[in-house]
Amino acid sequence: MGKRSKKILITGGAGFIGSHLSEYLVKKGHQVICLDDLSTGSKKNVAPLLKNKNFRFIKYDISKPFYYRVDEIYNLACPASPLHYQKDPVKTMKTNILGSINALEMARKNRAKILQASTSEVYGDALQHPQKEGYWGNVNPVGIRSCYDEGKRCAETLFMDYHRQYGVAIKIVRIFNTYGPKMSSDDGRVVSNFIVQSLKNQPITIYGRGRQTRSFQYIDDLISGIVKMMDSNPNFIGPVNLGSTKEFTIKELAKKIIQLTKSKSPIVYKPLPLDDPKQRRPDIGLAKRRLGWYPKINLEKGLRKTIDYFQKELALKK
Ligand code: NAD
Ligand code: UDP
Repeated sequence: MGKRSKKILITGGAGFIGSHLSEYLVKKGHQVICLDDLSTGSKKNVAPLLKNKNFRFIKYDISKPFYYRVDEIYNLACPASPLHYQKDPVKTMKTNILGSINALEMARKNRAKILQASTSEVYGDALQHPQKEGYWGNVNPVGIRSCYDEGKRCAETLFMDYHRQYGVAIKIVRIFNTYGPKMSSDDGRVVSNFIVQSLKNQPITIYGRGRQTRSFQYIDDLISGIVKMMDSNPNFIGPVNLGSTKEFTIKELAKKIIQLTKSKSPIVYKPLPLDDPKQRRPDIGLAKRRLGWYPKINLEKGLRKTIDYFQKELALKK
């Protein structure tokens, strides 16, 4: 494809990751169509792009069929925060399954390349650590996280079957916990919750004892990984892990954010949600070998940029 301008569709393009990706691809000179039903995303995230002739926003629920003539599709639509994906679990499942089928059908008719934003949640409450792509996971099929975990697993199956059955050019990335500017302040995920609570000097809500671990990657690192994957050799379809290998307990994260914001917030302990994974860290050997990719921004630097963003957001709301 070289450096020519491509027509690209992003589902979920007004969400946290989608809006960063939209911005990145428009800056590179591509034409981007963003389909988003604004259930967890917001037009504000793409406000600077709305006047750009290379960006088109369309409010649309991807569980209904759609068709656009494009070269590439990034399938990102799906609420990512447990708080939001559990609010309407049937819709979460429809977005993952019907949405993926609709996106894949479009790719098939168009001969477009399509990338699926999968997740570390396909490994569930992992019994192998760190998690490698070959691990099949430990997922509860009937729990409160299943609409997301099983929805994403089924989407991966659909991608593989469209590839094997119809020859669709696919790419699957498994994204690990990602944070950064443009997360919504009421998103419910841990980094945005802790930063907003700290900045407001409100209690920091640790679920459980805070001994569970996650590995947090900054948004710019993820965007570079996703785009490298889309542009990689057609034979390399994944799935490939994209995440940070620096693992922290949730309590360590809380302390770090309190320190960086110089907050007076106390820590309070709330019940641990059901099926909350205990330990998570990716093995990114495959991404390093096949994409030459690894994350470059450490937690402290990424948190500072994110804290800056929320400081401005909260000041605007006053
Ligand atoms: P987000 O909630 O900010 O973005 C999701 C976007 O999809 C929102 O703009 C929302 O309005 C839109 N959407 C939801 N259902 C839709 C539907 N039926 N039709 C059209 N649009 C719909 O979340 P995010 O963090 O930006 O996540 C983006 C993708 O990356 C998701 O697929 C998520 O599962 C995946 N992912 C994210 C992370 C992370 O840490 N952020 C980790 C793993 C995987
Ligand atoms: N968490 C927490 N307090 C919060 C929000 C989340 O202790 O206010 C915990 C949550 O229980 C989980 C971890 O932080 O163990 C990461 O949660 P998040 O919802 O960000 O992502 P996921 O569980 O999907 O990795």
